[in-house]
Amino acid sequence: MIAEVIVDIAASETDRIYDYLCDDDAVVGSRVRAPFGGKTVPGFIMKLKNTTDYPTEKLKKVISCPDELPALNRECLMLAEKITARYRVPKALSLRLFLPTEMRTGKVRELMRSYASLAVEFEEIKLSKTAKNQLGAAEYLRDNGKTDCAFLNHAYPGGVAGLEKKGYVKITKEQLLRDPYKTVEGEKVERVLTEDQIRAVQTIERDERTVQLLHGVTGSGKTEIYLTLIAKCLQEGKSSIFLVPEISLTPQMLSQLRARFGKNAAILHSGLSAGERFDEWWRLRTGEAKIAIGARSAVFAPLENLGVIIVDEEHDSSYSSETAPRYNTFDVALLRAKYNNCKLVLGSATPSVETYKRASEGEFSLIRLNKRINKRPLPEIVIADMRREVRRGNNSAFSAALKEEIEKCLLEGNQAILFLNRRGYSQTVICKECGYVAKCEACDVSLTYHREENCLKCHYCGGKYNMLSACPDCGGKKLSYAGTGTQRVVADLQKLYPTARILRMDNDTTSGKEGHYKILKTFAEKKADILVGTQMIAKGHDFPSVTLVGILDADMSLHFSDYRSGERTFQLLTQVAGRSGRAEEKGKVVLQTFDPENDVLRFATRYDYEGFYKNEISLRGAMAFPPFSKIVRVMVTSEDDKKALEGLRNVYFALEKLYTEQTEKFLFFNKMRAPIKKIQNKYRYQVLMRISDMSVLPEIYAACADARERDVLVSVEENPSSLS
Ligand code: ADP
Ligand code: ZN
Repeated sequence: MIAEVIVDIAASETDRIYDYLCDDDAVVGSRVRAPFGGKTVPGFIMKLKNTTDYPTEKLKKVISCPDELPALNRECLMLAEKITARYRVPKALSLRLFLPTEMRTGKVRELMRSYASLAVEFEEIKLSKTAKNQLGAAEYLRDNGKTDCAFLNHAYPGGVAGLEKKGYVKITKEQLLRDPYKTVEGEKVERVLTEDQIRAVQTIERDERTVQLLHGVTGSGKTEIYLTLIAKCLQEGKSSIFLVPEISLTPQMLSQLRARFGKNAAILHSGLSAGERFDEWWRLRTGEAKIAIGARSAVFAPLENLGVIIVDEEHDSSYSSETAPRYNTFDVALLRAKYNNCKLVLGSATPSVETYKRASEGEFSLIRLNKRINKRPLPEIVIADMRREVRRGNNSAFSAALKEEIEKCLLEGNQAILFLNRRGYSQTVICKECGYVAKCEACDVSLTYHREENCLKCHYCGGKYNMLSACPDCGGKKLSYAGTGTQRVVADLQKLYPTARILRMDNDTTSGKEGHYKILKTFAEKKADILVGTQMIAKGHDFPSVTLVGILDADMSLHFSDYRSGERTFQLLTQVAGRSGRAEEKGKVVLQTFDPENDVLRFATRYDYEGFYKNEISLRGAMAFPPFSKIVRVMVTSEDDKKALEGLRNVYFALEKLYTEQTEKFLFFNKMRAPIKKIQNKYRYQVLMRISDMSVLPEIYAACADARERDVLVSVEENPSSLS
């Protein structure tokens, strides 16, 4: 038999099929070790055949790995092929998406434990007197029965191997499965679905469209709908994939899932140890677990016979990969849904503009949940005008209104969350007196401050502007380049409320999987009164005692220099506000801003998604921004500035040819230095494009793939979430 093998080396020179001899029982999708250029490298069998054009006497033989099941099934191979073609990456890179790293690097071995036991009666064993270790091991096995080889090898070096050779001992391999969530316990709650929830489940099951968008306000019971769908699949013997933003794998979510599905659920996320991740993956591959839950990479879960794929918080930016291949989770999920003939359910209180457009045009089914469970009201959002506060001489991070609400909340023994927006920090210039924000004249996105050059720049067109010393609108001199950090907020709060118990949650306080968990658990157990945090606290949490949410700086994301800043702000504010008043107590939100008349803020305070969407989509249309176009950035990086520049020249040459031949498909085309010139010692250059006709996209990828060279990385980003 001849196997077509892809070697697991992610380089374009080795990115092709190699023919090898293999055993007759070899299986497509299996891992192998292949002799390659004087070394043995891991690889995968992509195809089997009987003949080859290559001279057979020159063929080398692969060694198959003793996996019980081929690592990759047919569906995985099909998906990998599509990803390779779409993103023009070496095949090895696409295949890697489907495997836990531990499996690729061969460390898997350690996860299989070998056990020795006697194969014959002890009395039948005949050993020479010098074979002390063999005798010792045999005696140990006689007295203790089956024993871990690792232990025996340590106690009686070489003993077991000697006994096995003579047939006195047999070795069995067993897998040692770790349970990553031993510490997570939960109560099983069976809920009776509300009428709205039943209607949603039925629509999802009956509507013939593959993609189902569940647009439900926060607290409308979307999670319960997902769990019902998953449970139904399980009953029918089908598997499911449940994707959530990494951040939403909260303790509550985990314990709910554990209580509900027990060992049927495998939870994959970056906080797990390598071994734990491998175990969970393997349980899915063998079919022992039928539900894969995790962040975006769980879309590659090795499941067969899928009954449903769910993407919760579908608008979340974490669903786009930031490393090659820069796949879009939705695209992969859609391919899988079609392959398995199952539904793809997207859920959000604030769908992305792009998704909502497709749903409102009828391409996706659109299911609305307009009410919270038990008709609990959405919390009232009051706007605190920070310009007025500054004029009154209040330069602190808290408005009078917020302070009043915090006091009330503490007095009543409830909890408060204070949210600090860190994205776009110290990048935009904002006038503290009138709320003016410096914007690009050509692109209508806010400018970004560049310290080194002491100027303002537009990341969309590269336009350069002088620094401001006073506000062009009101002449005010209080221009802000930076907000306040969480640490500072906590310190100030503690001064104001000396007896309050305050918790802080941001990137600095949440190292490891436990960090997150501990802070949230402490807060959930009401061992703290106020939680101060960044983006991390915006999503998914359900704290019944929280009656107040304070948004300290709503503007910081609004003026982030991104065409999606309005969308992001609306999403963020809605999510954060959704944390308040989820149980019996009524909730309140205080939103602090320097720009109270802003449309996005006004729609957010009224929970008017529809209004926001209509406004936003007409703006996007007028500016020809996505979803009416696509922003494509080609990034060239290298540790060697000269090589990077040369790489840029090559790419630019190829792309410019495309541009001149098909100018009508481009809205914008330019090359420039990336706004951040150097990251981790790599020099960065970019070609920025906005295209209106997607047919040119594969050609852009092809041009970039051809321009790839040693030590120069050329990557293509579609609608990148940051242009820095
Ligand atoms: P969403 O995901 O839409 O934000 P959740 O699924 O978190 O909403 O539901 C909000 C709250 O309502 C949760 O506390 C949940 O336990 C509760 N809930 C959901 N469905 C029901 C139901 N059918 N009966 C009673 N409570 C429910
Ligand atoms: Zn511009």
